[in-house]
Amino acid sequence: MLGVMSKKLRSLLKNQIRDNGPMDIGLFMAQVLGHPEHGYYMRQDPFGAAGDFTTAPEISQMFGELIGAWVADVWMQMGAPESFVLMECGPGRGTLMADALRATKKVDGFHEALEVHFLETSPVLRKAQGKAVQTHEPVWHDGLETLPDDKQLIVIGNEFLDALPMRQLQKTKEGWAERVIGLDDNNFCFGLAPYAGSVPEDISGAREGHIFEFSPAQVSFVEDITQRIKNQSGAALFIDYGEMKTQAGESLQAIYKHDLVPILEHVGDADLSANVDFGAMGDAASGQGMSVHGPVEQGAFLKQLGIEQRAALLIQNSDKDQKEAIEKALHRLTESDQMGSLFKVIGLSCGAALTPAGF
Ligand code: SAH
Repeated sequence: MLGVMSKKLRSLLKNQIRDNGPMDIGLFMAQVLGHPEHGYYMRQDPFGAAGDFTTAPEISQMFGELIGAWVADVWMQMGAPESFVLMECGPGRGTLMADALRATKKVDGFHEALEVHFLETSPVLRKAQGKAVQTHEPVWHDGLETLPDDKQLIVIGNEFLDALPMRQLQKTKEGWAERVIGLDDNNFCFGLAPYAGSVPEDISGAREGHIFEFSPAQVSFVEDITQRIKNQSGAALFIDYGEMKTQAGESLQAIYKHDLVPILEHVGDADLSANVDFGAMGDAASGQGMSVHGPVEQGAFLKQLGIEQRAALLIQNSDKDQKEAIEKALHRLTESDQMGSLFKVIGLSCGAALTPAGF
């Protein structure tokens, strides 16, 4: 069943294709997710059992609590500046930040020093974030341009990069071609268009039919953050699912009510996302002189930060049902058959010699 709300988005995309010809997947994804009026994230809260998917902070309070401890530790390593910007990219319902703030209440001077900033385009989610983090009067931004430039900066983002547009190439007999989206009898369909750009060395061994995904939007976002941190000093932490190194393979997926669905069948109603290339992120940052920490697997990172001890402590004060829920959440966040290996964590820093925890 296709939603009525997303109908406008589909007809808008189809008109663009009729007018301008097939479009690359990046342009398609940007509009499906982020169209100011009709985009997937603009219209709804996609999280939780009633939504389309669940994220780590929504699984357990432990996730945000440990990220909070990570931030407080970095702040102390930075010399505990009196005032700094803590910016979260794509905060969803604001759960991670709320848990992070609660867990760090007792860190001397930390709450007085931090200014909460959110990078978020969705009006629906901004509202939820405002409710979750009322006491800290967050400041929202549509882009990085409006972020204060006169303070040290700590940036965090969970499952943010994977929502930025990516493109796909396919190896053909004649070389690499770009996968595009066109129309076949008024239905969306995939096609191929000539591609004149270069491809990284890492995929030179790809065979005919192989897909390669790349995201200029992710790379330029990380470069912009890098520039900010270089100018203002500080650190960044990104957590997402993806690969340690640049490689061929297809990961673009559409998720609708917790199920994978064909990408072109629920356009506007399903979330679209793709693996983050952590190798490319690290290269983009280190190429500009940043220290890169990791990437490491999420399970290892959370264990380093003490998630098992935190779970044990929570269990002490719990009844049987709560105990089971905590154990289940711990498993889900850290084990390899769940999110523990698929999800990776990368840290970036510049300025003072920082050794962020967890790597
Ligand atoms: N971090 C949250 C939500 C992840 S979903 C969690 O872990 O639960 C992706 C988030 O990024 C949503 O809040 C979405 O509205 C936001 N987002 C997606 N694309 C964006 C963009 N280009 N600019 C700002 N926010 C964006």
